[in-house]
Amino acid sequence: MQPSQRRVPPRRAASLASITALTLLVATAAGTGQLLGGSSTAGPAPSRSSALRPCMIHGRPNIQMPEGIPTSTGYAHSTGTVHALTLMIDFSDAPGQGSALDRFAEFFPQTQRWFTTSSYGRLDYHPEAPIRRWLRMPKPFKAYGLERGAPFDPGYRRLVQDIVAAADSEVDFRRYDLLNVLVTPNAGPSALDTVLSVTFAGNADAPLADGVPVANASFIYSRQDDGSGSYSVTGYRVLPHENSHTFGLPDLYTQEGGTAVGHWDIMSEDWGADNDMLGWHKWKLGWLDDSQVDCATTRGTVVYTLSPLARTGGHKLVFVPLSSRAGYAIEVRTREGNDAAVCRPGVLIYRVDADVDTGNGPITVYDSRPNSGGCTRSPNVQAELSDATFVPGQSFQDLKAGVVITVAGKDQAGNYRVHVSRR
Ligand SMILES: [Zn+2]
Repeated sequence: MQPSQRRVPPRRAASLASITALTLLVATAAGTGQLLGGSSTAGPAPSRSSALRPCMIHGRPNIQMPEGIPTSTGYAHSTGTVHALTLMIDFSDAPGQGSALDRFAEFFPQTQRWFTTSSYGRLDYHPEAPIRRWLRMPKPFKAYGLERGAPFDPGYRRLVQDIVAAADSEVDFRRYDLLNVLVTPNAGPSALDTVLSVTFAGNADAPLADGVPVANASFIYSRQDDGSGSYSVTGYRVLPHENSHTFGLPDLYTQEGGTAVGHWDIMSEDWGADNDMLGWHKWKLGWLDDSQVDCATTRGTVVYTLSPLARTGGHKLVFVPLSSRAGYAIEVRTREGNDAAVCRPGVLIYRVDADVDTGNGPITVYDSRPNSGGCTRSPNVQAELSDATFVPGQSFQDLKAGVVITVAGKDQAGNYRVHVSRR
């Protein structure tokens, strides 16, 4: 029995996550090995047209999981074939109930489908479970001390070492790009009480397995049932969220929950109805070509045509740089693809700041109808920002920066015309 409107808490304390990420990024800067050979950068290749350079914002070196482009090295690659080693583990004080493959089936094939749809087929996700039974850990769950927000040391390091030791005779870790650890759901608290699921990304200092560090690993606990009775349909979404950290994306929810970005990106809310990713993230991950992105640097007014983000092909993103660190992003969101809960199709405008840490609000969506209460009736979706989109006739202004963004119209095919004026 669960209350029907219960809010699922963010999955880890931002401050603790930040400390962890900082450690990992510092370790990454040395550029040591990845979990698998092959492409080591997430996102688009470094050679770009000079027209886009002013839009390739970047944070200072101490920023944790910054929104900047390109993504730094050390993360799993986010295009092409991604081999996800998936292990189901249990403990003597939390023995796996039922088949380990049933636990696997809570996340697949939905996670593959989500990535295929969101990436326009550019990310070919292969979940692989070479061990089809519960992998028993040598110590009881309690012995690892894995509380919410626990850092990598010492508990997760010990757990990874034990996982590697238990699996090593049957698994060649060099064959995989990232690791999913699906913990038996009876280990630890219910996700309704506290969410333990966590990812350690770009962690070159992680324990070695077959000579490579287990640098990008997602740990999934419990069943993240949002109380709406839709677990079988949407419960898998914690995994694409956690895996997107292994590609270098930060958390967009803050201490206040989903109030900065609402349901417009899976890094903000991975509970409730299905949702897609922001165009900025799709460019960062290499799912949009440079030719699908416009960098609005010209003085005066320039007219852009944007096609809905969920559809393959066409212009998807206009970025208005304000500095080398931040700018405004403009895209069209409609109810299609992975965006199941969009109740007001239109133009989404948001600020991206590469100088803000993960969990501290690196992205802020602007609400075209502040304090409206929103338009969604979907349970556990941040309601206020659900009608944030701008429709023909509406404008966004930043008078101090001299930027005005106006939605001028919409054609039969659903493309939007947007005017960007710069002083
Ligand atoms: Zn997260």
